Amino acid sequence: MHHDLDKLLEGLAQQGERVFALQSALTACKALGPDNGGPGESEKTRLIADWLEDCGVTDLLRFDAPDPRVPGGLRPNLAARLPGASSRTLWLFGHTDVVPPGDPAAWRSAPWQVRREGDMLYGRGVEDNQQALVSMLVLARELQRLRLTPGLALGLVFMADEETGNRYGMEYLLEHATGLFSPEDLFIVPDAGSRRADAIEVAEKCTLWLKVRVSGVQCHASTPHKGRNAFLAGAEMALACHALHEVFPQGNALFSPPCSTFVPSKHEPNVPAVNIVPGSDVFYVDCRLVPDVDPQDVLAQARARAEEVARRHAVSITVEEERCQPASATPADSPVVKALESAVQAVYGVRARPMGIGGGTVAALLRQHGLPAAVWSCIENTCHQPNERSSVSATLKDAQVFAHILMSCDHA
Ligand SMILES: [Zn+2]
Repeated sequence: MHHDLDKLLEGLAQQGERVFALQSALTACKALGPDNGGPGESEKTRLIADWLEDCGVTDLLRFDAPDPRVPGGLRPNLAARLPGASSRTLWLFGHTDVVPPGDPAAWRSAPWQVRREGDMLYGRGVEDNQQALVSMLVLARELQRLRLTPGLALGLVFMADEETGNRYGMEYLLEHATGLFSPEDLFIVPDAGSRRADAIEVAEKCTLWLKVRVSGVQCHASTPHKGRNAFLAGAEMALACHALHEVFPQGNALFSPPCSTFVPSKHEPNVPAVNIVPGSDVFYVDCRLVPDVDPQDVLAQARARAEEVARRHAVSITVEEERCQPASATPADSPVVKALESAVQAVYGVRARPMGIGGGTVAALLRQHGLPAAVWSCIENTCHQPNERSSVSATLKDAQVFAHILMSCDHA
């Protein structure tokens, strides 16, 4: 078995030119979703499916989500399976959609054409999330070429719509791919990480968005006593929301910052002229809650504060839940985390540590379905920026990390 692993690692190390070729072809697909004014991910997913079939991977499953906004009417989700000695599967997830390039002047080369500079590739999507896609593809190809049957089965999932809400991607997949995933499997989402490869994301805070609406009475600003200034009351309410961290001081060392945060953020426009006292004020609070804090308690506390402020200013204030994504966590001693730790040590020579983030990856959706997911990759962290870049050697080493996990047999 060890000899097989060595052959696989050696084979992967020689795939640099293939990484460049794959990245170039994937980037040229311009896989923007319709919310970003694009035609979706169909061309890119077809390219991936054809490439896998050419490599001899034939167990391909489609879970395409209907979406009349794109040509062909479907948002593609693709799962590929390669057999292993065990019935357990190592699942790797990559999303096919990308974000728009933004200001073209900020790019030093054409965003949809990959530029190579030493070990670095530049282009929209090369890091987010094509580094993962390419690691997954070269791993599948080398397994096929060497005719290896690893300890674990390998499952590759290519999903749509990660950048604009997952409704046609991971959410659709989890609803429709019943029986595909087992809680005994290992789940890795290579869609975040650090440059040193030492961060394994195992937990996400709860994301709670509050919408605060203050209703007062509009009047001329020269006679403020005739009105009820909704902006002024809203400002006090914003401070009261920010102060909720005093009510919910629970700490959690996995996260940075290691506590819940309460941030007044978006503010809707109010009156068009300086000499008007606003009769209405609407703003939002972005709350990120450590797993011990119940979002319903936060909502109740915010509403209690709203009553006090409303009384003082003789206005009315409502607090609504705009969005609530529950906190999620994979135990730091679960098999997928342990397997990642030892594989990262073997390939990158570093000790990776479990940590938590503010929230927002598809791993949270997997965890909500009882599937223990970890988020890991070795990336430059240039996602969504101009001149997004990805390292060829890190792409291959990430594949080697997955190879280590796949080929070892003791993940009990
Ligand atoms: Zn991503």
